[in-house]
Formats: sequence, C-alpha cells, structure tokens
Amino acid sequence: MTAPGHPYDEVIAANAAYAAEFGDKGKLALPPARGFAILTCMDARLDPAKYAGLAEGDAHVIRNAGGRASDDAIRSLVISHKLLGTREWFVIHHSDCGMELFTGEVIGELLEDNLDTAEFDGKAWHNPHHGGGSVAGRYVHWHTFSDNARSVVEDVRRIRNHPLVPKTIPIYGFIYDVRTGRLDEVAEANAAGKAA
Ligand code: ZN
Repeated sequence: MTAPGHPYDEVIAANAAYAAEFGDKGKLALPPARGFAILTCMDARLDPAKYAGLAEGDAHVIRNAGGRASDDAIRSLVISHKLLGTREWFVIHHSDCGMELFTGEVIGELLEDNLDTAEFDGKAWHNPHHGGGSVAGRYVHWHTFSDNARSVVEDVRRIRNHPLVPKTIPIYGFIYDVRTGRLDEVAEANAAGKAA
C-alpha cells in the first residue's frame, strides 16, 4: 500500500466508485453518438466534458500540450472521421496556456542540462539541479506559440489543408477563457475551417 494522498491510491479509489455506478454505459456503441471531435489542450483547468457538455459515448476528445494540430493529432482526427464517422471538428486552445511560456530553444536548453521539473519565476525558467540532461530535446518539435489566436488559425488551416481531411468537414476554432469558462470564437479560424 502506498501512502494516503498518493495519486495511485486516489485513482484506484475514484475508479472503484465510478465502476460501482457504471449502470448501462457498458452498452455504449464505439462510434461517438453526437458525431463530432474536439482537439484541445491537456491543461488541467480544462474539462471538455463539462465545457462542451459531453457524456460518455458522445464525442472524441483529442488532447495534447497546446491542443496543437500535430501529426499525431491529425492521425486521430482522420481515424475519428474515416472509421468512426465524426462530421464536425473543434480546435479549442485557451487563455493563459503554458505553451506561450517557453520556446523550443528554451525547453531544449533546460532538458540538455537536467531532466527534473524546472521552475518559472514569472519571466524565465530555471533548473533546480544541473547535470544528467539529454540533447534529445533539441530534436523534438514542441509546437509552442506566442500568439494564441494565430495558433488556432494555424492549426485549423493545417487540418483543413491536410490531404487526408475531406473538405466537407467544418472545422471550428475557439479559445477557452480560463477565467470565465467561456468559449470565444476565433472568426479567422472559422473562416479558414469552413466546409466546402
Ligand atoms: Zn494549454
């Protein structure tokens, strides 16, 4: 047994309670019932089930750091439509995103020095320890951004122009406001993601 308060125990206990009330959700179909997919950030403050009103079985939610249209996010979206029938997609970034707080250069440098969690002083990142890092971070495309709205437009455009994405799928772009819980439309992204 690990100590109380350990994430492992908390997850196991929460899951036991969840499974006890699972009801007829075991009968849900595999394809998402409401026919849409959301690509959004992994930020812990965002709960797509709540901000977009989803229940189990409703929609695909693809998450990564920044909610970026990486090759792997596009892989999931293509499967979501081609094999599981989603017909509308949402790209949802958010205010105060951590991806605006560093660059590929910065994280590459930090990782090359040391792998432990870095500290942010409001301006710059610092390693608490030194040594034992790896140069491998220099070869990762981190998909950071400095202009949130532009990053939504870029991602919608990248998905829109992908050869495996049908022109019939509308792609919407939003920024979720972490202070209010509201989804703000990015008009330029919606225009770029219009279905033909
Ligand atoms: Zn984020």
